[in-house]
Amino acid sequence: MFELSTQDRQAFTLFLQDLVRTPSLSCQEKVIAERLAAEMGAVGFDEVWTDRIGNVVGRIGPGTGPRLLYNGHMDTVGVGDPAAWTRDPFGAEIENGVLYGRGSADMKGPLASLVYGAKALIDSGVKLAGDLYVVGVVQEEPCEGYAMRVLVEEEGIRPDWVVLAEPTNLQVSRGHRGRMELQVTVRGRSSHASMPELGENAIYGAARIIFSLELLADMLAEDPFLGKGTLAVTRIENTAGSKNVIPDSCTFVIDRRLTLGETEAKALAEVEGVIARENVRAEVRLAEFEYTSYAGYFCHGVEHYPAWVVPENHALVETTVRAVREVVGRRPAIGKWDFSTDGAYTMGIAGIPTVGVGPGEETQAHTADECIRLADCFTAAQIYAQLAVRLLGEG
Ligand SMILES: [Zn+2]
Repeated sequence: MFELSTQDRQAFTLFLQDLVRTPSLSCQEKVIAERLAAEMGAVGFDEVWTDRIGNVVGRIGPGTGPRLLYNGHMDTVGVGDPAAWTRDPFGAEIENGVLYGRGSADMKGPLASLVYGAKALIDSGVKLAGDLYVVGVVQEEPCEGYAMRVLVEEEGIRPDWVVLAEPTNLQVSRGHRGRMELQVTVRGRSSHASMPELGENAIYGAARIIFSLELLADMLAEDPFLGKGTLAVTRIENTAGSKNVIPDSCTFVIDRRLTLGETEAKALAEVEGVIARENVRAEVRLAEFEYTSYAGYFCHGVEHYPAWVVPENHALVETTVRAVREVVGRRPAIGKWDFSTDGAYTMGIAGIPTVGVGPGEETQAHTADECIRLADCFTAAQIYAQLAVRLLGEG
């Protein structure tokens, strides 16, 4: 059931090629948003609109009953080093059934599968007993969850379930670690570098804290399912009037991955403990971000994205596993993602049951020669149609 026809496969492929050929860096999703909205209208969604931050929302269903939301982000990371690519990152070339290009796996292929899954439902004549929303989300890459927060809290679209189409190679994902970006600022006192004893070198203070953090990193909490929390210093900068002046401040960035049970407060307290033990004049704080979406919405917040897990025996996980099995003929593996997703908000903050299933391999995300198998995209579309019927029921 819901298998894409030859004609639909051709239309899908052209649509996905269009998406890949349309660059869509975060905060620059205007053109791809228009393309997505046009396709949703063409395949017969009941309603298609763009919300205040620029998410494209398509809805099919009676306008009452439970709400199921399918999520796919429209933005991609940059190309990186062009020399690392052997294909045109915006060429959408197809070879042996594999489509190449930036965003093909993360996650324009999955996004196209959501749209064509909905088309398969519409064409089948099945009447859902609740509403299916397919949402093309903005700015997932820099601040995952933010645009979903706007949709849920400001636009009032609060679903009963969220399915993330991020790549899982058609397996089922039920969580991932969280992340935080921390900023440590070390204070010193400048003096002429020929008389360092008169100053206080902020770099030396930072070095003591950093060595201590390296030791702390080995002792972080571990969750049997999500694995270990991690900590890495990823950037360091200092201020000094010139190269012959003792630096009076030094700032460094910590990338902190949070496993289950590691809260913002706990992660901050650990670093504060290190600073106190090393007896360095320094403070740690959560980094902040500011962006303006392509639609002109001003976004600001802190760099904290919680870990989340949905229990393996949750009805949403079981129903998703069943829908995949019904389509592909075998039970999918149930696992987790290594990267972070919009689930950081939907399950991590809002507590909306969230699960992931998508075509494409997680390891393809953000790489040169990123690619996806078209056959897997077609299968995913079928799974999305099947899952919507299983979750919402027929009315
Ligand atoms: Zn992604």
